[in-house]
Amino acid sequence: MTPELILKKYYGYNSFRDKQEAIIQHVLNKQDAVVVMPTGGGKSVCFQIPAMLLPGITIVVSPLIALMKDQVDGLNAIGIPAIALNSSMNAVEQQEAYKRINNGEIKLLYVAPERIMSEGGRFIEFLKSLPITLFAIDEAHCVSMWGHDFRPEYLQLAVFKQQFPGIPVIALTASADAITRKDIAEKLLIAKSKIFISSFNRANINYIIERKKDALDAIIEYIDAHKNKSGIIYTLSRNGAETLATQLSDAGFAAKYYHAGMDSTSRAKVQEEFKTDRINIIVATIAFGMGIDKPDVRFVIHYNMPKNIESYYQETGRAGRDGLKSDAILFYSYGDVMALKRFVEVEDKTQAAIMFKKLDQMAGFCDARKCRRKMILEYFGETYSVDSCQSCDYCLSKRNSFEATVIAQKALSAVVRTEERFGVNYLIDFLRGSKSEKIWDKHKLYKTYGIGADISKEKWTLYFRELIDQGFLHRDESGDYPRLTLTEKSQLVLQGRQEVYFSLVEEKVRAKAVLDIEYDVALYEQLRSFRTKIAYNENLPPYMVIGDATLQSMAAYLPQSLSDLPFIPGFGEIKIERYGKKLLEIVVSHCRLNKLTSRMELINKRAAKKSSGSKPAKIAETKKTTLYMFRSGKSIEEIAAERKFAISTIEGHLCEFILTGDVSVNQFVSPEKIEVITRYIKHSTDKKITPIKEKLGDDYSYFEIRAVLSHLDYLLT
Ligand code: ADP
Ligand code: ZN
Repeated sequence: MTPELILKKYYGYNSFRDKQEAIIQHVLNKQDAVVVMPTGGGKSVCFQIPAMLLPGITIVVSPLIALMKDQVDGLNAIGIPAIALNSSMNAVEQQEAYKRINNGEIKLLYVAPERIMSEGGRFIEFLKSLPITLFAIDEAHCVSMWGHDFRPEYLQLAVFKQQFPGIPVIALTASADAITRKDIAEKLLIAKSKIFISSFNRANINYIIERKKDALDAIIEYIDAHKNKSGIIYTLSRNGAETLATQLSDAGFAAKYYHAGMDSTSRAKVQEEFKTDRINIIVATIAFGMGIDKPDVRFVIHYNMPKNIESYYQETGRAGRDGLKSDAILFYSYGDVMALKRFVEVEDKTQAAIMFKKLDQMAGFCDARKCRRKMILEYFGETYSVDSCQSCDYCLSKRNSFEATVIAQKALSAVVRTEERFGVNYLIDFLRGSKSEKIWDKHKLYKTYGIGADISKEKWTLYFRELIDQGFLHRDESGDYPRLTLTEKSQLVLQGRQEVYFSLVEEKVRAKAVLDIEYDVALYEQLRSFRTKIAYNENLPPYMVIGDATLQSMAAYLPQSLSDLPFIPGFGEIKIERYGKKLLEIVVSHCRLNKLTSRMELINKRAAKKSSGSKPAKIAETKKTTLYMFRSGKSIEEIAAERKFAISTIEGHLCEFILTGDVSVNQFVSPEKIEVITRYIKHSTDKKITPIKEKLGDDYSYFEIRAVLSHLDYLLT
């Protein structure tokens, strides 16, 4: 067996992501490793696949019983023998577990860190009696005091290198910061190990940040448009969570609250209901999250601003672990900043200062006008050089940019003339020359009075916001009513030494629905509800029966037979055996009713074929025939007609030969077009054809895009 074959057979995936393959090879070579990958990046297979390939047993340390149970259930569901030993098991269960381990039936043994040194070293002795091939330490940042979740028991894990020097250790974490990484390696005595760091970009998450205004209505509107989708809404306080959950369930949504003030039974119950899709929405304080790795959370909404950028990244990161498009929406207000400042009640002055600084950074992040993704990644020390991420509120908004120095000078002069004593409304009335009695008589005599009459009140409101946002004016709230005051930057503008540019949002985006792939929604819903039935029968969370991504692929490519299923990502052997036939029946009858034909030829079968190992010869022959005919000078249409194949099939064959370098992309696409398409592909986060085609329009065919995609792949390999 090869790593690829295991990935295919058990997990049903066709190719490794990013660094997975290199990490697995490294571990198979008995080398230690620290793996830093964002949530949802696919850390688990990095130790699970070596565990399956190597003889003997892999010991996995994981901090929470709930997480362990999920992983073990998930592994068993795909046919991998794994088991957990934990304190929630009774004596009989424990005995049974020990028996299976000693019999050599188990490939992965999950344990909590405190167990390792328990029973006066007897557990270590037990481990020594086993043919251990690998130690995997999940959530490895728990070993570091620099991390956000230090657990002293983790320090004891140094015992692995001390007592089992020849056995490799792989430590895995989603913690992004460099001090923690280094500390992990040192504390686990693997200081010389290789560190694998993946990008922290979560390409499938849309980041949307809005000023808080009618947030409840906005939330209701959003969740109404996202029915049956799972989501988490974070609030600052327990009270806030309870109130909002009640408002939402009164409005007819399946929402419940969750916070640390509830007893553990009620908390576990809510968590279970969420995991099994019995409720869709959890309104929670940040107490909710650690123990949950539900992969199909489609949105995370922050009703209040998080306390720092790390928390924001971590909490939003709970969305979309399955890689499908998900939304992170944050409503922020100045009031939240003040409330959070009151929350900082630390004795230690230095620590408080750090917390205030991080809070200010978070507020600055909300206020800034830059790509959100770029800001997040730069905060974690990564560079992101794409011009527009196409998936944050900044990049998606239509804006109007123009020089506004004169407008700014008028506004600032108004502030000067009225001695920095007034708020926005007064200043606008003053600028527009309002006849109202509210305007002081003395002010009506100034030259500045009425110099902004040509600009509407609405526009002035926006302009003032912009001036405040850009730091040309300061909003002082210390008195009885807010007033605008000048800043250092205002002087430069008034003296004509600095130009001002406005960049006003013309059309603000709310979360925009983007499909991962184009699929038949009605069919997808049918498949989903069938899955729910199976899940309740088998007492498993629906995502463990079969993932959303897999059902979407079925609804997109319309497989017609069991032999089509291995090409659908997520169908490992066991899943095909257990659910394949029933799910297929739904697809086939939907196709018959709606006169749809299979689109399996659109799926990239190349990788699947490569790893499945069987019967590629025949497929390769038929493709070679296409190649020979093409080389003999026949056109694509001629080949298709002669061979009685769809044109798209022949095009597919040729793309494969672009990939292998046997034919050149230039035979199908002009250099100008190649350049344009390449640019679009580079800007697209997931390299999917349909969205690229939509952007390029009718002048570009699917085939041309596919050909360039293959060409770029060819250049990479
Ligand atoms: P992490 O532990 O890093 O948060 P997981 O190991 O839980 O991430 O993986 C996240 C999701 O990605 C899971 O649904 C997993 O099955 C899926 N996944 C992992 N590797 C691949 C791959 N090579 N191709 C497709 N999906 C993958
Ligand atoms: Zn962006």
